[in-house]
Amino acid sequence: MVDVLGHLGMALLWLAPVWHFINHRRTAALVAGGGFWFGMLPDIDLQLSALEGIHHHGVFHTVLAVAVFAAVLGPLVGLVFKSIGTRTDPTWFYDKARERAVAIGVITVFVTGISHLFADILSAPDVSTRIEPLWPVVEGPVVMMDVLWYQSWWATWGLFVLGVTANGLAWYLTDGRDESTAGTAAE
Ligand SMILES: [Zn+2]
Repeated sequence: MVDVLGHLGMALLWLAPVWHFINHRRTAALVAGGGFWFGMLPDIDLQLSALEGIHHHGVFHTVLAVAVFAAVLGPLVGLVFKSIGTRTDPTWFYDKARERAVAIGVITVFVTGISHLFADILSAPDVSTRIEPLWPVVEGPVVMMDVLWYQSWWATWGLFVLGVTANGLAWYLTDGRDESTAGTAAE
């Protein structure tokens, strides 16, 4: 388990390609900024571990669970993005993105969830059991990677800074086509 900040940084890093695919500055900013929080979702098992059969790094830390999260929460996230674009300033979620709002939401939740599993795989052995990302297809941990430095203070912050920087750079490189689509979106 990495610190919260490390997980959020990893999620930001994994969301950075969104700028390339969406290629619309404000829309990408909304998706990255609204989406990276979902990088903490698998750790909800820390809260639920009082329940029968739930333990940290258990079922919630699998690709299967992340896919279920994405299928259930993703469309809602997409609709929230869409309504932000509809009810406030349409340039925050431009017309082409609104047509694919559900898909964007699903991808956002899925990518950030997988980024969480990836970070946990990299983590050195910690207090909890190893994650079994491919359960139930593959029982037990699939890869053993102990990147020991990963738990260090500077690695956690480094990851976060890296995630923020990657998105900042992408923001800078994405040409602001914000204004050009505002007209069509305002219907
Ligand atoms: Zn975790």
